[in-house]
Amino acid sequence: MDILPKSFADRQALVDHVKALSPQAKGDAASPIEATQANLAKRLDALDPAAYGRSRNFINGKVTGLSPFIRHGMVSLNQVRNLALDRVARKSDAEKLIQELAWREFWQLVRRDHPDWIWRDAEPYKTGFSSRDYADALPQDIAAGQTGVAAIDDIIAMLTTTGYLHNHLRMYLASYVVHWRRVKWQAGARFMLNHLIDADAASNNLSWQWIASTYSQKPYIFNLENMQKYCGDAINTQAQDNQALDASYEVLTARLFPQQREMA
Ligand SMILES: Cc1cc2nc3c(=O)[nH]c(=O)nc-3n(C[C@H](O)[C@H](O)[C@H](O)COP(=O)(O)OP(=O)(O)OC[C@H]3O[C@@H](n4cnc5c(N)ncnc54)[C@H](O)[C@@H]3O)c2cc1C
Repeated sequence: MDILPKSFADRQALVDHVKALSPQAKGDAASPIEATQANLAKRLDALDPAAYGRSRNFINGKVTGLSPFIRHGMVSLNQVRNLALDRVARKSDAEKLIQELAWREFWQLVRRDHPDWIWRDAEPYKTGFSSRDYADALPQDIAAGQTGVAAIDDIIAMLTTTGYLHNHLRMYLASYVVHWRRVKWQAGARFMLNHLIDADAASNNLSWQWIASTYSQKPYIFNLENMQKYCGDAINTQAQDNQALDASYEVLTARLFPQQREMA
């Protein structure tokens, strides 16, 4: 078995080496996120659990950016939890962050107990459709980030150029793929896994199942108003560029899940 080198003259030498190992990978750009010890130390230094609790749902909120480091074993969930508790005057100020760390652990345990759920529906869809109604393959316009829905295209561009997305953006993209385009969650999950630098089959695929409703009680959907509230100007949320998303929840529910209404 080949032993992978660990030291490189510079980042470009590392990038060239990885490219040679993955000739099938498209594009030239490496993620701007560098998982070095120095960058990890900076992120841990900036950890502010109370601000996290208040702002984590906002794209420019005080999220930790720790997922690539956690995913690749550079820091453990326990270390982050202990540091969070050390940083706050009241334990409750660290609650939200610790809950999110616990989600990661939860998904790992679900995978341990149900390894087949990583690629198989855990339950039927609760959308009024059966899995046969969903396309097997990811449409080309989604893969290329050219859906014509500006906010979604911006999210896909962010994913494919940086390898990182804020949790809320992952939720929007997954919901768009499964519910607006009626594509099987597995196709979207594979696409995301291929691009994320924190790619983790448990967190990723089981979150896709949660959004699809094959591992939750109802499908997760969003609308443009919700995006405008949480995204600021991180992505284009102009109404004229995002017509497919610009409606009330009631209208979207009737439009996306017409069979639910017939069943009711
Ligand atoms: C569709 C979808 C796909 C996802 N795919 C992945 C994936 O491949 N790898 C991955 O690590 N996370 C995944 N997540 C979970 C979450 O989006 C990321 O962990 C988080 O956005 C990473 O950014 P952060 O480190 O700044 O998170 P923060 O919000 O700062 O959270 C701190 C840490 O808590 C954990 N965490 C936070 N939110 C979640 C969550 N909802 N589920 C599980 N763990 C969480 C992560 O380890 C994260 O690094 C996915 C979520 C969704 C909705």
